[in-house]
Amino acid sequence: MLGIPRIGPRRELKKAIESYWAGRIDAESLHAVGRELRQSQLTGLYAAGLDSVPVGTFSYYDQMLDTAVLFGALPPRVAAIADPLDRYFAAARGTETVAPLEMTKWFDTNYHYLVPEIGPETEFSLHPEKLLGELKEALDLGLPARPVVIGPLTFLKLAKGIDQDPLRRLAELLPLYRELLRGLAEAGAQWVQLDEPVLVTDLTADELAVVGNVYTELASASDRPALVVATYFGRPGPALPVLASTPVEAVALDFTAGTTVDDIVAVAALRDKLVVAGVVDGRNIWRTDPDQALTTLATLLGSTGALVVSSSCSLLHVPYSLDAEPELDAALRSWLAFGDEKVAEVRMLATALHSGTDAVTDELTVARAALASRWADGRLRDDTVRARLSALGPEALNRAPASKRLPLQRDRLDLPLLPTTTIGSFPQTPAIRKDRAAMVKGTITPEQYRERMRAEIAEVIALQEKLGLDVLVHGEPERNDMVQYFAEQLDGFAATANGWVQSYGTRCVRPPILFGDVARRAPMTVEWIEYAQSLTDKPVKGMLTGPVTILAWSFVRDDQPLADSARQVALAIRDETVDLQAAGIRIIQVDEPALRELLPLRTEQQQHYLDWAVAAFRLATSGISDATQIHTHLCYSEFGEVIDAIAALDADVTSIEAARSHMEVLDDLNAAGFALGIGPGVYDIHSPRVPSVEEMERSLRAALKAVPAERLWVNPDCGLKTRGPVEVEASLRNMRAAADAVR
Ligand code: GLN
Ligand code: ZN
Repeated sequence: MLGIPRIGPRRELKKAIESYWAGRIDAESLHAVGRELRQSQLTGLYAAGLDSVPVGTFSYYDQMLDTAVLFGALPPRVAAIADPLDRYFAAARGTETVAPLEMTKWFDTNYHYLVPEIGPETEFSLHPEKLLGELKEALDLGLPARPVVIGPLTFLKLAKGIDQDPLRRLAELLPLYRELLRGLAEAGAQWVQLDEPVLVTDLTADELAVVGNVYTELASASDRPALVVATYFGRPGPALPVLASTPVEAVALDFTAGTTVDDIVAVAALRDKLVVAGVVDGRNIWRTDPDQALTTLATLLGSTGALVVSSSCSLLHVPYSLDAEPELDAALRSWLAFGDEKVAEVRMLATALHSGTDAVTDELTVARAALASRWADGRLRDDTVRARLSALGPEALNRAPASKRLPLQRDRLDLPLLPTTTIGSFPQTPAIRKDRAAMVKGTITPEQYRERMRAEIAEVIALQEKLGLDVLVHGEPERNDMVQYFAEQLDGFAATANGWVQSYGTRCVRPPILFGDVARRAPMTVEWIEYAQSLTDKPVKGMLTGPVTILAWSFVRDDQPLADSARQVALAIRDETVDLQAAGIRIIQVDEPALRELLPLRTEQQQHYLDWAVAAFRLATSGISDATQIHTHLCYSEFGEVIDAIAALDADVTSIEAARSHMEVLDDLNAAGFALGIGPGVYDIHSPRVPSVEEMERSLRAALKAVPAERLWVNPDCGLKTRGPVEVEASLRNMRAAADAVR
C-alpha cells in the first residue's frame, strides 16, 4: 500500500482532533488516540500479509502541511505561536489573527491539501521528529516499516511561491532530503518511498532534466535506504525513462490510471529496477478483476528486475472496510473493495504471482463469481434511458440564442436593475440537523419531518421577503448534501452507511456509489420548490445539482466512459427542470461547482473532457422554454483552462466566487466572449464576518467597470449553509442596501 487512511475506521481521529480544538481533551490524549490508531492499523496490515507497511502518512491534518513542518517551511506569521501543535493547527485553520494556508485540491481527487508558502523569508531546516517517531514506533512493534515522504519536486511544484518560483529553492532543499534519508537509514528504515505524483502532469524539457538531476543526486549518497519513487493518478510518460535512468532502486506506477505494460517494456532501464505495480485501484471502490491484473503482472515479470504488487495510490481516498456496511445490497457489496478488501486483493495477487493461482483457488473463485454477478446484473442497463438518450439529436443541447431568450425572460420576471439573490442554501441549523437525524432514526415520521422542513422554508421565504431580495430560494433545509440528496433518489446510485473519506482536515464525506444506469424514479425537488413559490409572488429559483458535480463527488462506475454516465445524469436533471417549469417555476439554477475539479491532469485530455462536460450541462438545461431562466453557480473564480467552457454552458446567469479575488475575473470573462448575466459574489461567506454596505458597494462599482448594469447580479459568493442565522440576516440586509445605493 502506498499510503493508508488516517481518520480512523469510526472517525476516531476526527473526533479527537475536534475535541482538542474545543478544549475538551489535551494534547496528550490526542496523541494517545493517534498512537493507538497507528499501531492497530499497521499491525493489522502486516497481519493481513503485506511485506512492508507505510509510516508517515498518518497526519493530524494533511501530509503537505506535515512536509512543510518537516522542512521548516511554515509561514512566518505562525512562528510566534510557541506550542508546536497549536502552531500546526493555526497554519491549517487560522486563528482570530492569523490567516491559514490556502487549501486546494490534491491533483484530480476530492482530497484537499494545504498549500505551503515558500518565500524569501523561508529558511529550510530539518525537523524529522514526527517521522522518526512513527518509524521507531512501527519498528518497535516488529513491523517492516517504509517511511513515506512527499518528494522534493511535488512539494515545491505544489507550493505557492511568494515573489519567486518555489522550484528555484530546490538546491537548498536537496541537502535536507539527503540528511533526512541518512537519518531514516540510521533509524533502521530499509526502504523510503518518495511520492512524486507531479510526474504524471505535463512537464517541460527543463523540468524533466531536473527530475533526472534530483534523483541522481539523492540516490548518489551511500548512506541512504533503498528508494522507491512513487507516481500515481496517471501515466508518467516521458518522466518514466528519465526516472529509470537514475540510480533509484524502485519506481511505483499506477496501472489503473493509464500506465500500460507497453510503457514499461519500452524502457530498458526498468529491467534492473524493482517495479511496484499499482494494479489495485486506490481511488475507486470496485473489486479488482484478478485475471486481468494477473495478466498485467505476468507480462511485467519479464520486463522488470523485480515486481511488487500494490494499490495504485494511497488508500486515503477510499473508506476503511466493507465490514462497516452490513446493510448494503448483497450483490452490490460483493462487487466492491474498500481499504481492507484491497489489502486482501494485493496479498492474493502477490501470492498468485509468486506461488501460482492454485495457492489462492478459493479467493479467485469468489472474485470471479462476484464479477460475473456484476456483469449479469440487470441494474447495469436501463434500456429506456439508453433509448431516450440515443434518440436525442443535437437540438437537445441548444436553446434559442440569448438575444431571443433574454427579452422573453425580462418580460416574464420583471426584475429591477442589479437583481439581488442568494446561491441557494440558508443556514443548516442544529435544529434542522436534529430533525433529519431523528427522521433517519425513526423517532419522527417522514410526515413530521416534512412539516418541519416546510416550516423552515416558510421562515426563509419570509426572511427574504422582509429583506426585499428579488429572486428567492427555498433554502435547501431538506438536503443532507447537494450530491447525496439527488443520489438517494436516483436509480443507479447507492449510499453507504459508514463509507467516510477524508476531504480535508477533519472534514469527511460519504460519496455515493454510482453502479448502474441512472434513471429518475419521480420528481426530486418539485414539491419543496412549489411550496416555497406558493408563499410569495417573487420568483423562487428551482435548485438542482449539475451532472458533472454529481459525478465528481461520487464513486463512479468503471465499466463505461464518464461521459456516458454524465449524459444519463443530465437526462434525469433535464426531466426535473421540465417538471419544475410545469409547476410554475420561472428560474432554475443548476450548480456545477465541480466543473473545474474534474479537469484531466494532462493538457491533451482536457478538451475532450470540457466538450462532454459542457454538453452534459446543456443537455440538462435545454429542455425548458426560452422564457425560463437558467442560472448556474461555480464556487471559484480562477477559471484558467475552463474559461471558454463557462461561456459555452450558455446559462442565462452565472454566479461565481469573486469576493476574495476581487473583480478581475470579469475582465477574463469578457475576453473569453462571455456576454450573459453574471453575479460575482460581493461578499465572502467563508467567514462569519458581516461585511459593511460600503464594502459591498465598492465591489459592485468595481464590477460595473467590467460589466454593464443590465448583466450584473448581486449575490454572496456561495451558499449560506455553514453560516449562522444572525450574521446571514445582517449580511444580506447590507447587501440589499449596497444594491440600492448603486442602483
Ligand atoms: N446551491 C448550493 C448552496 O447554496 C451551492 C453550493 C455549492 O456550490 N457548493 O449551498
Ligand atoms: Zn459555491
